[in-house]
Amino acid sequence: DNAQPKKPDWIRVKAPGGEGYNETRRIMREHKLVTVCEEAGCPNVGECWSQGHATMMIMGDICTRGCTFCNIATGRPETLDVFEPGRVGDSVAKLGLNHVVITSVDRDDLDDGGAEHFAQTIRAVRHRSPGTTIEILTPDFLKCAPSVLETVVAARPDVFNHNLETVPGLYPEVRPGARYFHSLRLLQRVKELDPRIFTKSGIMVGLGEDRKQVGQVMDDMRAADVDFLTIGQYLQPTPKHHRVDRFVTPDEFASYEKTAYGKGFLMVSATPLTRSSYHAGDDFARLRAA
Ligand code: SF4
Ligand code: SF4
Repeated sequence: DNAQPKKPDWIRVKAPGGEGYNETRRIMREHKLVTVCEEAGCPNVGECWSQGHATMMIMGDICTRGCTFCNIATGRPETLDVFEPGRVGDSVAKLGLNHVVITSVDRDDLDDGGAEHFAQTIRAVRHRSPGTTIEILTPDFLKCAPSVLETVVAARPDVFNHNLETVPGLYPEVRPGARYFHSLRLLQRVKELDPRIFTKSGIMVGLGEDRKQVGQVMDDMRAADVDFLTIGQYLQPTPKHHRVDRFVTPDEFASYEKTAYGKGFLMVSATPLTRSSYHAGDDFARLRAA
């Protein structure tokens, strides 16, 4: 049975529009930048873009993986655009962002998984906007030599985010091609390589996991020294994608947040519409001010 549970009223999505939204859209088009906000059909695009928050996706819009929750096209990506880091740097400067989130598709076709391209992009942003804090949301570099991670870490992002996405038991159906413990270890290695970098990870709920499994993921993350956690409701992008098992209630999200703080995370966002880049800048600014 592939019937979806009915969308509850706490999943409300405002239609995007308005001056700020249009300006963000214009800058993204002008610099030929791909955003995960649009590619993933993120429900927060109206809110985020009206405030100039966008998550840029580098290295193209075709991914070598095919996660069953994700709306990005799977296939053979194009060659890397050497001018892209500069364009990201320019657009971050134009948007005047205090905090930027940069992500990418997975590039199993490249020897370094795109690590050097990530590092160049971080350097380009820092060069143009030295006051902007930089958060990267990376692929897992599963097929690469372990040393490629050092390339990314050496560019000193302020926040290194890599999502575990779901509980390990659901990996085969949700994140085939990825390995739970590899991803966990990646996060731990970032901290070992440079303890000044904040590490962050997230999962979606409503895919079929239970509370105990979510608690275990939190424990695993803390054992790997992960600092920040995001938990949001999984929404099915198209009927061909993984089905929504259920809609987790706002009260359950609040309880996850409480549990997570109890386990020692520095920052937790757990609400139905939480996405890994949702309000990332505000949260980070609050943390640094504290
Ligand atoms: Fe973009 Fe993230 Fe905001 Fe969604 S939550 S619109 S992906 S910045
Ligand atoms: Fe989507 Fe990332 Fe999976 Fe690629 S690796 S299909 S971009 S979630």
